[in-house]
Amino acid sequence: MQVAIAGAGIVGAAIAYELSQVPGLELCVFEACPQPATGATGAALGVMMGIISQKTKGRAWRLREQAVQRYDSLIAELEDRTGQSILYNRQGIVSLRFAPDERLERWQTLQAQRQAQGYKLELWDRDTLLEHCPHITHPDICGAVYSPGDRQVDPVALTQVLLQAAQLNDVQVHYNQPLKRDSQGELRDGAGEAIATDAYILTAGLGTVQLVPDLDLRPVLGQAWRVKLSAPLGQPDFQPVITGEDVLVVPLGAGHYWLGATVEFPDEAGMVVAQAEAKAEFWRKALRFFPALAEAEITAEWSGLRPRPWGQGAPVIMEVESDRPTLVAAGHYRNGVLLAPGTAQVVKDWVLGLG
Ligand SMILES: Cc1cc2nc3c(=O)[nH]c(=O)nc-3n(C[C@H](O)[C@H](O)[C@H](O)COP(=O)(O)OP(=O)(O)OC[C@H]3O[C@@H](n4cnc5c(N)ncnc54)[C@H](O)[C@@H]3O)c2cc1C
Repeated sequence: MQVAIAGAGIVGAAIAYELSQVPGLELCVFEACPQPATGATGAALGVMMGIISQKTKGRAWRLREQAVQRYDSLIAELEDRTGQSILYNRQGIVSLRFAPDERLERWQTLQAQRQAQGYKLELWDRDTLLEHCPHITHPDICGAVYSPGDRQVDPVALTQVLLQAAQLNDVQVHYNQPLKRDSQGELRDGAGEAIATDAYILTAGLGTVQLVPDLDLRPVLGQAWRVKLSAPLGQPDFQPVITGEDVLVVPLGAGHYWLGATVEFPDEAGMVVAQAEAKAEFWRKALRFFPALAEAEITAEWSGLRPRPWGQGAPVIMEVESDRPTLVAAGHYRNGVLLAPGTAQVVKDWVLGLG
């Protein structure tokens, strides 16, 4: 059976790799740009809030649990298969708690639920936090939740390596080849030619709306930064991702960090541009908790558009009407890196169901 995948972001790449291991499939990826991971994936920080998320049941938890269970082995498998190394942080995620600690009870409930599910969350008081992260001294911080089992990965490197491994398994990847919808509603390649395929998987992020009528995905902008410090924040041998009040501090090694991201919604006309006020507000929060960042040199600055579904939950994984079986897997909003392996699993089950 032939399957065409539209879009080589993290979601399309994870699907291509997963399906490349199914015997008897001929897979083709069509990517609009000259290289992979140029959409939301290219802006992402790769933080995977799985165990530490408040989702505990249903599809939302299932997709997260698949990431938690799959990522360690996936990274090892990809590095082994391609000989490439991927920046992958196994030191967990620390989520700061602020006084008055109104969410403590919620965290305690989550900790008990995760324990029953076989996962560990530690509730740290202020002294324990200071022991592990001596640089976090702000008086409003009364403790933290530490999730040792959550991870962070370089999303662009991961996307490239997933595609490389898929290509080693005979997947064809075509760049500069946007899929298009013609006036009859049929999907065509960039040259307007019909595509030889039995099924489509549409993973074109925000671009998916051009391919599927009535699909409502809207952009939510995020600004992010790479900074360099003369010394690592806190203890050099304990460099987890730290998050508080929507500020993520992602260690990259040797005093380099990613910081992000703002959350900026479109205006009534659907337009969204990076706002100076959102940047100022982000930095005000970041400097409050991480005063050492005042000395940081900003070495890169960028923004990206998260694909957010309107009127339904993220992500959108659904079959749509077409001349051939067609599955949309898009709209992963703030968690596409986290949810990519679980999405790939759902897509694989759908493809296997086509017989
Ligand atoms: C600043 C920022 C920080 C983020 N941080 C995190 C994080 O820490 N953790 C996390 O899990 N998520 C994070 N996200 C969210 C994450 O980036 C997205 O959910 C994820 O990248 C979506 O992946 P995707 O493959 O669906 O879409 P995209 O990455 O947008 O990929 C879609 C691809 O399809 C291509 N395309 C478009 N139209 C067509 C067409 N017609 N034909 C063929 N190809 C087409 C595009 O060129 C693109 O390569 C962040 C996002 C932003 C902006």
